[in-house]
Amino acid sequence: MYLSKDIVKEGNQILRNTSVNVTLPLSSEDFNCLKGLYEYVVVSAVDELVKKYGIRPGVGIAAPQVGVNKRMFAINAVDFLNEDQPRYLLAVINPVITYKSPEMTYLPGGEGCLSVDRSTSGLVTPRHYAIKAKCSLYDFNSNKIKTVTLRLEGYPAIVFQHEFDHLDGILYTDKAFDPKDLDKAILPLFEETEEE
Ligand code: ZN
Repeated sequence: MYLSKDIVKEGNQILRNTSVNVTLPLSSEDFNCLKGLYEYVVVSAVDELVKKYGIRPGVGIAAPQVGVNKRMFAINAVDFLNEDQPRYLLAVINPVITYKSPEMTYLPGGEGCLSVDRSTSGLVTPRHYAIKAKCSLYDFNSNKIKTVTLRLEGYPAIVFQHEFDHLDGILYTDKAFDPKDLDKAILPLFEETEEE
């Protein structure tokens, strides 16, 4: 599994490169990278393991963030606004976004990134509310790859777009604005409530 020391930080050219498609079936090197990314987001969701490994938890991590310019990432995002709370735990290979809704949204508290250590509080990143993406998914239970078209909306769609941008050398900070400077038609994904 990747640890904090393995995470490439803002300022490193690796995060700015355009990553290349992955050849299927996966080479053992690519498999190990994707498995490491997947394990990172799995461990991130378990408090005791986060403490044990001393990692900063993340709902997504892309291959360039561990120094590999290949089009792969893992996400572990719960759609908390959906009453069924579906979890999108995905190991994604060679994604292509085939649809972007005209409707835009943003996380009211702004985004964060394992590769960005500075505070960007007060800034938000506009994202398409819904997307469709064609990609290959690696299933670590069956060790099989399937090619699918994902339809995502809301929070999982935002996480997917953040990770997808890493493959094109884009950081969320490149697209971060003060919400008052955004088009009035762009609404937050949810109303932020006061923390108790
Ligand atoms: Zn990131």
